[in-house]
Amino acid sequence: MATKIVLPEAELPTHWYNIVPDLPSPPPPVLHPGTHEPIGPDDLAPLFPMDLILQLVSEDSYIEIPEEVREVYRLWRPTPLYRAHRLEALIGGPARIYYKYEGVSPVGSHKPNTAVPQAYYNAKAGVKKLATETGAGQWGSALAFACSLFGLDCEVYMVRASYDQKPSRKAMIETFGATIHPSPSNNTQYGRSVLEEDPDTPGSLGIAISEAVEVAATNEDVKYSLGSVLDFVLMHQTIIGEETLRQLAMVDETPDVIIGCAGGGSNFSGLVFPFVREKLAGRMDPVIRAVEPAAAPSLTRGSYQFDFGDTGQMTPLVKMHTLGHPFIPDPIHAGGLRYHGMAPLVSHLHELGIIEAEALHQTETFASAVKFAKAEGIIPGPEPAHAVASVMTEAEKAKESGEEKVILFNLSGHGHFDMAAYQAFFNDELVDYELPEERITEAMAKVPVVSG
Ligand SMILES: *Cc1c(COP(=O)(O)O)cnc(C)c1O
Repeated sequence: MATKIVLPEAELPTHWYNIVPDLPSPPPPVLHPGTHEPIGPDDLAPLFPMDLILQLVSEDSYIEIPEEVREVYRLWRPTPLYRAHRLEALIGGPARIYYKYEGVSPVGSHKPNTAVPQAYYNAKAGVKKLATETGAGQWGSALAFACSLFGLDCEVYMVRASYDQKPSRKAMIETFGATIHPSPSNNTQYGRSVLEEDPDTPGSLGIAISEAVEVAATNEDVKYSLGSVLDFVLMHQTIIGEETLRQLAMVDETPDVIIGCAGGGSNFSGLVFPFVREKLAGRMDPVIRAVEPAAAPSLTRGSYQFDFGDTGQMTPLVKMHTLGHPFIPDPIHAGGLRYHGMAPLVSHLHELGIIEAEALHQTETFASAVKFAKAEGIIPGPEPAHAVASVMTEAEKAKESGEEKVILFNLSGHGHFDMAAYQAFFNDELVDYELPEERITEAMAKVPVVSG
């Protein structure tokens, strides 16, 4: 059976880890969308409360987690680390496999790790309402949950393809008291303009972000909240890796390979940033790998350049691996991985050669997830199924070479709201979309040319 490695509640980390001061070279600046000049804290004030903006520019390596946030974290944290004995036996060979399980949170994923502090800081600043986007619905659920705890209203723009595929996520978001619209919607100027051009669009995260940003930017008491990509989001997620380091120490293990799935990059960063710190300090030397879908391969096929975070060109310009802000990925079931860009910090680490990346097709990921579920009893979400597939290949390689490898991965969420996707897999209805280079070239043609 799987061994559960439990970190005592008293050892819940007290600080998030800010990787920026430890990087071998500083990350590129964030640029104003109009002037292309570096922005300052005041430029972001319409969108975020000052506490969060200050975290973006902080030069401290550790930022204290407010007690109000830790109190909520304790509802499900520390999360378990498992040794996957039965999966190891299924594969055979000498690999030892560990997974950190974030599906034990109230909404079933890692997303509340940042939703809770974001709602907390906004409530503290007197904000009345948060507007946000959601892909598969996990982020919308997490923010709706967090807003209900801190007495904030919440408005969610959900990518149309997922809105139609996942009615239960919609109901969950409404249970926590939030309002939800399929995106693109008629609620915003930008949504209306997209619908006019293509009434049948499946939508995209980039479009939904534009809608939520527009709502925040045009309403005094509304701010914007983002579930991935931004530095402070990645930092809030580092509680995952900080716990995991302590748990691995309890069983005297050091990872040789660390794997996470990456859409915007937050669950991946949350697990790996504390390990990157250890790697840069020479205390361990793991291979660190981000796994993305072949239908939205920003790290493996995108360009590293300045681009907008949204389709409507309202966000600042950030330097990242991008497929171009107008890019609309095919409607794969891993809705949480359908994003045109990658977090700037993850992109920077990739550029520095500190992490590697791989892209996988969805049928392979579901096939691996089913094997994992049968062995370990947990049904992975379609997003972490990408990590599972990569882990299984890695364990097979260890079997062939006879190398004793310790493999660690992040099981970022369960798949209980994704059973229709599993059913489609069992019915042989899943399509592995081949992404033609022209679609990337076409979207990249609209990306502004910025020097630096
Ligand atoms: C949102 C989500 C992802 C993808 O987002 P990242 O920011 O790349 O982590 C992956 N897994 C789960 C379970 C998610 O909810």
